[in-house]
Amino acid sequence: MQAIEIDHDVLSRRATIVAALKKIVPGEGVIDAAIGRRAYESDAFTARRALPMVVVLPETVDQVRAVLAYCHENNVKVAPRGAGTSLSGGALPLEDGVLLSMMKFNRIKEIDFDDRIAVVEPGVTNLAITRAVEHRGFYYAPDPSSQIACSIGGNVAENSGGVHCLKYGLTTNNVLGVELVLMTGEIVRLGGRWLDQDGYDLLGLVVGSEGMLGVVTEVIVRILRAPETARALMIAFDSSEAAGACVADVIAAGIIPGGMEMMDRPAIAAVEDFVHAGYPREAEALLIVELDGPPVEVDHLVGLVEAIALKRGATQCRISTSNEERLLFWAGRKAAFPAVGRLSPDYLCMDGTIPRKQLPRVLAGMRDLSEKHGLRVANVFHAGDGNLHPLILYDANKPGELQAAEDFGADILRLCVEVGGVLTGEHGVGVEKRDLMPVMFNEVDLDHQIRVKCAFDAKHLLNPGKVFPQLRRCAELGKLHVHAGNLPFPDLPRF
Ligand SMILES: Cc1cc2nc3c(=O)[nH]c(=O)nc-3n(C[C@H](O)[C@H](O)[C@H](O)COP(=O)(O)OP(=O)(O)OC[C@H]3O[C@@H](n4cnc5c(N)ncnc54)[C@H](O)[C@@H]3O)c2cc1C
Repeated sequence: MQAIEIDHDVLSRRATIVAALKKIVPGEGVIDAAIGRRAYESDAFTARRALPMVVVLPETVDQVRAVLAYCHENNVKVAPRGAGTSLSGGALPLEDGVLLSMMKFNRIKEIDFDDRIAVVEPGVTNLAITRAVEHRGFYYAPDPSSQIACSIGGNVAENSGGVHCLKYGLTTNNVLGVELVLMTGEIVRLGGRWLDQDGYDLLGLVVGSEGMLGVVTEVIVRILRAPETARALMIAFDSSEAAGACVADVIAAGIIPGGMEMMDRPAIAAVEDFVHAGYPREAEALLIVELDGPPVEVDHLVGLVEAIALKRGATQCRISTSNEERLLFWAGRKAAFPAVGRLSPDYLCMDGTIPRKQLPRVLAGMRDLSEKHGLRVANVFHAGDGNLHPLILYDANKPGELQAAEDFGADILRLCVEVGGVLTGEHGVGVEKRDLMPVMFNEVDLDHQIRVKCAFDAKHLLNPGKVFPQLRRCAELGKLHVHAGNLPFPDLPRF
């Protein structure tokens, strides 16, 4: 992985920078001591760590504005951070930059049940939004497994998804507006309390921009009426091919389940040992399919899905008869990551998306790659969306195993792209998949993407080193042709 070059000029000015930041955010809002900064050295992509130069925890929009304006003027880089649960290293700090934690922005500012919106600060956790509206029968639909901890600001930056996104859409489909502070300190509002906006869809651009275009200081989300009822099916197959075909058949029949998740044999065993949800250990693949809506419709659809599954050779099909049983079916899936974490000292959680019908081919390919790299893999995925989460098991204490795990992960993502898929489904590119971007995009594509970045952050100070593999200054765009290793503009500092 390409190292990020450290700006020693900035480091030499550290004391001045810290003093200036302390004036902007007084009290305990600036963490200067190394021991305090250590807590922020990585996000959930723990394979990469860096001690931030300084951590700042603003409490007001005006403080965010002033911090960014100061950093802009003094050429100091900034990495925004929410709860630090990113699995792609999106919130990895910079050793010569400010880590801007948004977790003190934790207020729910307004709930409007008539307009079906909630106005929240970015540090509010995903689950807290549902908790705040469920007494009136509402909920916030995107539900990452990390929802108890991850912040809505992080969700916006990563365009996060979850089990219910197949039917109800990802973050981008459930966010109506944001307030954003640009690197210059300018404050802009994109979208609003209504369903569409005038002009270009800049809100669509910001959702999923991985903290590289601006710092989100307010989010307006859509809240939905909770479905009247929900029932789940737990369906076992003796091959992942049959399970994959069943997923495709359900969607082809025009049924959009509230959630449709799949696990392979290693994941099933890990989950069953951990949660005892009654998963069949002998199955090669397990589907959890949830149907929600009015009871009559749900009962009808449950019957249809059962018939499709049996036609595809399901070896077992259990249908939940109570809400407790439905939640038990889900308990295993929801705990899949920690369950797999008990199998090995470390794991890398990959995230790629493929056309659904390619599931069998990709799963077979992964088995071959597992042999090639000599590492085990367990698969948990949002089958309905074709979003894979292979968990590659390794031991960081064994020399060479982290590298082998990363090579294995890179091969899986190459395979996803080869079959017509994409490098990420919901975890973002971050630093984890950054160097694989050229597998999907050519130089021209990347140039155009960076032009967008330049329009928001011409000095490339906001979260640099993420997403784009070949770091270019805005001045270089369209002119950066590297021939025989000779980089043009060699005098320009690179990240
Ligand atoms: C156990 C586990 C399960 C997970 N399951 C899922 C899942 O099911 N689906 C899913 O999509 N993800 C999942 N994730 C990944 C992660 O939780 C999401 O990416 C989440 O949105 C990150 O939110 P965060 O608050 O932790 O952000 P952070 O990790 O702090 O930051 C993530 C990115 O957002 C940027 N950012 C944060 N706050 C702001 C802000 N206010 N303004 C601008 N940029 C900002 C950061 O710079 C960074 O690029 C999982 C993670 C874990 C550890």
